[in-house]
Amino acid sequence: MPSIRPLDPILVNQISAGEVVERPASALKELLENSVDAGATQIDIELDGGGTRRIIVNDNGIGIEKDDLHFAVARHSTSKIASLDDLERVMTMGFRGEALASIAAVSQLKLKSRRSEAPHAWEIAINDGAARVQPASLACGTRVEVDDLYYNTPARRKFLKSEPTEFTHCDEVVRRIALSRPDVSFSLNHNGRSHRHYTSRVGTPLERAAAVFGEAFVADSVTLDVAADALRLSGLAGRPSASRATRDWQYVFVNGRYVRDKLIAHAIRQAYQDILHHLRQPAFVLFLEIDARSVDVNVHPQKTEVRFRAPQAVHQFIFHALHKALAGTGLSQIPTPTRETVVPVTPFAAISVASQQPLALRIQQAQAFYDTVYKDTPAPAAPISSSNDAEEAPPLGFAIAQLHGIYVLAQNRAGLIIVDMHAAHERLLYEKLKTQLDAHCMQAQNLLLPATVTLNAEEMALVESERAILLQLGFELGILSPQSIAVRALPALLQHADAAELIRAVLREIGDYGAARVLEERRNAMLATMACHAAVRANRILTIGEMNALLRDMEATERSGQCNHGRPTWRAVTIAELDRLFMRGE
Ligand code: ADP
Ligand code: MG
Repeated sequence: MPSIRPLDPILVNQISAGEVVERPASALKELLENSVDAGATQIDIELDGGGTRRIIVNDNGIGIEKDDLHFAVARHSTSKIASLDDLERVMTMGFRGEALASIAAVSQLKLKSRRSEAPHAWEIAINDGAARVQPASLACGTRVEVDDLYYNTPARRKFLKSEPTEFTHCDEVVRRIALSRPDVSFSLNHNGRSHRHYTSRVGTPLERAAAVFGEAFVADSVTLDVAADALRLSGLAGRPSASRATRDWQYVFVNGRYVRDKLIAHAIRQAYQDILHHLRQPAFVLFLEIDARSVDVNVHPQKTEVRFRAPQAVHQFIFHALHKALAGTGLSQIPTPTRETVVPVTPFAAISVASQQPLALRIQQAQAFYDTVYKDTPAPAAPISSSNDAEEAPPLGFAIAQLHGIYVLAQNRAGLIIVDMHAAHERLLYEKLKTQLDAHCMQAQNLLLPATVTLNAEEMALVESERAILLQLGFELGILSPQSIAVRALPALLQHADAAELIRAVLREIGDYGAARVLEERRNAMLATMACHAAVRANRILTIGEMNALLRDMEATERSGQCNHGRPTWRAVTIAELDRLFMRGE
């Protein structure tokens, strides 16, 4: 073994550059953060060769004094903190004082800067560790030119991907900073061509999100701004209709810093769980603001990870804020009429094509369904009878027909509403079950004639041992024999379900997971199963009154826009869209 010696300072910088300057995009990120920290309102970026040949960042920030230029490019030199106390409440993007030194160690770096009071700019150029300062010309602000990244460490170049890939990473870095700073304008050129322009006319997160993801995303999102206990969560949460196949539109910023944090990701996933299909990924841009002393940002060389002092409180806060924001019915997404339309004048008769049941039986079933499921719903408003009270038409309109025993068709001001009746009813039951169970008042309904259900030995044992939880869920069961029970009462909301199927499903859940888990983490899954057993099935004929009751109930129920599996429960087709189908007016 050779003897131990301190490393050459140039080599030290080259080693640490490995962490900071992993690829052109990481160097660009550091330069952009410096511009933002310098209070710039306009940042112009020019890249060549995906950032490998050249990176230029030009800002209109406060600039650097001539005498400070040497420090700017020296390792462990920063204007942002001076003590441990400063570090603990740091609000700037940078604070480690090593980015420029690291970039300079592996490239050819030139930095020009001019403060507002200076008569002209100064430039510092670093070549092979040697610095040279000379006068230069520049408007107030700073311009950093990085030529031939990895000039001094050609071996690293081998790890770089193709030029388009490296550019995509740079573009993403610009997008993140642009999202977090809607008050700053950005321009991005690549190989001499203009690629992006984010202007800050209004300077709001909404304006910037629209510029980055398009107006449609903003229209399809919930805007939230919730504060409690020194925590604030704001931004845009995409509704299920704005969800995507991949996680590419998921942005979280903690005190303005883009982070990837498992705890936050988990809270967000949970908030979406009840409304999003398992194959879809939510889209969101969320900003968490937290007292700087409650979060450690010095965990990762690239500062993309954070550590919270009270992780559980942060998780709870994010989950609840987002869950509540996403609970809406989604009715605000109903298109507004593009021209005056008149909503139904007289009630329509329900039309069914699919059902083979005798009419008398169908009417009887339908009446029973309406009387019980909707007995608390006020009688549906009569369809309006003249064109001058169009404003009062409810958002989902009035039912006009049932299609193939599956869809309810309704007419609203903008056109046609199509409802998947099973999916919608299932969600309504599920939400009502959740509310009743949360309030510890699951309403039970005694059956006029108790139903006899045969069970296997395992199920019988559960009926005996889990009597308490079964009662809590609204089931009153009596043992008739070693193989059979009498179902005396069912949850009132589910009284039309097949008692045997329903009770077996509930016992299976309790058997598989245990009573405690069924009431805790499995609660929603369990209630969803119960709701599914009782929701109206295909081919059940509904009267117009029932259909209208269903629509009114959907309008009044949280999360009714998605079924329990995250699929949509209704869709709107506007008259304008129908006109296009028929080429009317062309
Ligand atoms: P850090 O940002 O962690 O302080 P850097 O190496 O990125 O470390 O930058 C060193 C110092 O150079 C900064 O603290 C800042 O004072 C100065 N500086 C760098 N870039 C700019 C800029 N664009 N405008 C003004 N000052 C800058
Ligand atoms: Mg920095």
